[in-house]
Amino acid sequence: MFSRKKQIEEVPEQLTAIWQCTNDECNGWMREEFAFEAEPTCRQCASPMQRNSRMLPMLVNTSGDQRAIKLSIPNGNPG
Ligand SMILES: [Zn+2]
Repeated sequence: MFSRKKQIEEVPEQLTAIWQCTNDECNGWMREEFAFEAEPTCRQCASPMQRNSRMLPMLVNTSGDQRAIKLSIPNGNPG
């Protein structure tokens, strides 16, 4: 029997630059690095956004080989 221990990894937070909706009734915001436009508008209410910053979990670059794909293709030797 294998006992699985749940490991809760605490993601460190860092002050992250964001765009925040200027509409008081809207809490829309996005990470600045995810904004493709120089001055994005809010996705929720289309209001202009202003730069701000907030503490957010650090983004881990998962573009690498996060998934270990196990493809074991044996080199078949015909014959
Ligand atoms: Zn908004």
